[in-house]
Amino acid sequence: MIVNMKDGATEQQIEHIIERVREAGYQAHVTRGTERCIVAAVGSGRRHEIEALQAAPGVDNVVPIAQPYKLVSRQVRPEGSIVDVGGVRIGNGEPVVVIAGPCSVESRDQLLTTARAVKNAGARLLRGGAYKPRTSPYDFQGLGEEALELLAEARCETGLPVVTEVMSTEDVDIICEHADMLQVGARNMQNFALLRRLATVDKPVLLKRGPSATVKEWLLAAEYLLTGGNPNVVLCERGIKTFETETRNTIDLAAVALAKELSHLPVIADPSHGTGRRSLIAPVSKAAIAVGADGLIIEVHPNPERALSDGPQSLDLREFQAMMRELPLQKNAAAVA
Ligand code: PEP
Ligand code: MN
Repeated sequence: MIVNMKDGATEQQIEHIIERVREAGYQAHVTRGTERCIVAAVGSGRRHEIEALQAAPGVDNVVPIAQPYKLVSRQVRPEGSIVDVGGVRIGNGEPVVVIAGPCSVESRDQLLTTARAVKNAGARLLRGGAYKPRTSPYDFQGLGEEALELLAEARCETGLPVVTEVMSTEDVDIICEHADMLQVGARNMQNFALLRRLATVDKPVLLKRGPSATVKEWLLAAEYLLTGGNPNVVLCERGIKTFETETRNTIDLAAVALAKELSHLPVIADPSHGTGRRSLIAPVSKAAIAVGADGLIIEVHPNPERALSDGPQSLDLREFQAMMRELPLQKNAAAVA
């Protein structure tokens, strides 16, 4: 249930509602928007006690939250949220943030060369896998802790905050020591133990959509993070499995627009995994921006032919620079509103 406070509701009136929501057996989540305050009653409690708050001073109306995800729903924060990643703001009309870097961190030289180049081209965050989810156990699995140290060094030199994937609850602490944002990979979108653990960390989470997940399942996965205490979540559409074999995955750009409609969380797109083809990265990036993506995550490698993972979908340094010159990254405020 949502208790919408009136525009001029006082602090005392808001506090009273929070207290009553808790008494009724719910968690109270308060959103103080630019215009009005919303108190969401989440969990399972005595519904009639919340409905009765309609008559309390300062309350405009009480409405049910229509969707199974609650805190993620746009109903609780109509203006959209902004997630701050090491000083870089993503979402709600901010300029489109480009996250770029190699699929995997392979060496100091490979990472630093890429980090410098993507920074010069206008990327705002650096990506790089340290722990890699590979389909085959015989493929390169990532450099682990050594890669985390290299990412921290690259951040120190370039000033770019760092995003890297966490595959296991065991690695959460060490990754938090080195990274600015933790990526939950597509294969782990419904790893509920991992989501519960990440709900308790003080770092933003990049939550990729599972290869076979519906938008509802994706948003419910995000709900685990928010209800567990971590409001700093960015959603990422990275393509889903379909009958198509010409592309690696089928990137669902309607889901980008839909997730933004249903949820207040920022949504970004991953044209690299979403297509699997270098030639499609620039056109699909433009399309993602056109449907309202708040950011892009792009794989870049100094020599894609020699990449230890995802070479065919990685741009080289010059291709990335050329694409960046063409992308309209400044959002038009009128279009956002
Ligand atoms: C990646 O970002 O390199 C990755 C493995 O992504 P996904 O989980 O989307 O496959
Ligand atoms: Mn990859």
